[in-house]
Amino acid sequence: MNKYVNNSGDLFDKFNALDETREQLLGDGVNPFHVRMDRVKSATEAVIDGRDVILFGTNNYLGLTFDPACMEAARAAVAAEGTGTTGSRIANGSYALHQDLEAAIAKFFQRSSAIVFSTGYQANLGVLAGLLGPGDTVLIDADNHASIYDGCRLSGADIVRFKHNDAADLDRRLGRVPGGAARCLIVVEGVYSMMGDVAPLADFAEVKTKHGAYMMVDEAHSLGIYGEHGRGNAESDGIEEAVDFVVGTFSKSLGAIGGYGVSDHPRFELLRLASRPYMFTASPSPSNVASVIEALRTISSTDEHRVRIWQNAHVLHGDLSALGLDICAPPGPIIAIRLDDAAQAFAFWKRLLDQGIYTNLAVPPGTPNGISMLRCSVSAAHSDQQIEKIIAAFALVAQEFGLAA
Ligand code: PMP
Repeated sequence: MNKYVNNSGDLFDKFNALDETREQLLGDGVNPFHVRMDRVKSATEAVIDGRDVILFGTNNYLGLTFDPACMEAARAAVAAEGTGTTGSRIANGSYALHQDLEAAIAKFFQRSSAIVFSTGYQANLGVLAGLLGPGDTVLIDADNHASIYDGCRLSGADIVRFKHNDAADLDRRLGRVPGGAARCLIVVEGVYSMMGDVAPLADFAEVKTKHGAYMMVDEAHSLGIYGEHGRGNAESDGIEEAVDFVVGTFSKSLGAIGGYGVSDHPRFELLRLASRPYMFTASPSPSNVASVIEALRTISSTDEHRVRIWQNAHVLHGDLSALGLDICAPPGPIIAIRLDDAAQAFAFWKRLLDQGIYTNLAVPPGTPNGISMLRCSVSAAHSDQQIEKIIAAFALVAQEFGLAA
């Protein structure tokens, strides 16, 4: 007998509504949030249910997960230093590789300090909850990533949300913070992860400077793609000087896992002794760190991947728009296609998978303003032939759904 059946007042009762939505959506058994990849064959190909599919829903923007030099660096690090670090850096010590990576990141961003975290999620938690505390105020864009919200909550600072990408709203709210802006931090993203829209960073920088607040930019989806040297949207908008803290991840353009915070603030290094998400978790594994060092070397030494992802982004955006699909933002690494509701988005997603194209289904509550969409990501590793197949599959399914122009 199952001892959990018929428990009244169960801990899981709070999930009843979630459970119902899940049941409605997943009626026929395919679960879009638990897709099993039998095998991932390359940066753009996998086998799902025994069939080859093209990956059009990863964040593998530069295609570096299968880069031969990154793979070789990871293999060499496993051979030399083993599979894991088995503890945090303050307890177990830093591997030379951790410090080499931090030096490489600081150099890449032309900043004095860089701190590496075990994931991008933890980088936001670590910088925000390390830096902020009760008595401080954090002003966050309404569409910011969950890790930014969670880091702010963990910090105990007062949280003020401003309208997405609205510098005038930020200006008004910043002006109302009691005691002025000296202990205020503005947090925005370079490119927003769901819709792929870009922040008006120059406007935000102006507001920040006017009030004398601090500003942090999460460049998770822009590193390696935007800016002449790939440093992200702050670089492409020419406002790096106004950015006090940059945060980002290794899990997208750099093809691994982990995250970083960088700054020129002379006391930034204190976070290593104040940031619980840095102090109380195991440090990244040697193979992971070694592959990121190599990936940074690659993106610092050639434009090839950046040029290619932009070519692919323009072709895909142009052709998908021409089909009559409703794309949420101008061309960029993320192509988000708005659909009527969760049921339609799910059905569209399934039909694309039948055609051998894997995208990300994004539905409320995980999306801004309750919209339902297919979130697609462009890779520098997508070949012309793969792009043709992607467009052909979308054309067919859009036709079936009566959405084609
Ligand atoms: N910041 C943003 C803007 C993100 O989109 C994400 C992940 N999607 C993260 C941080 C967290 O990064 P990671 O998945 O590497 O932990």
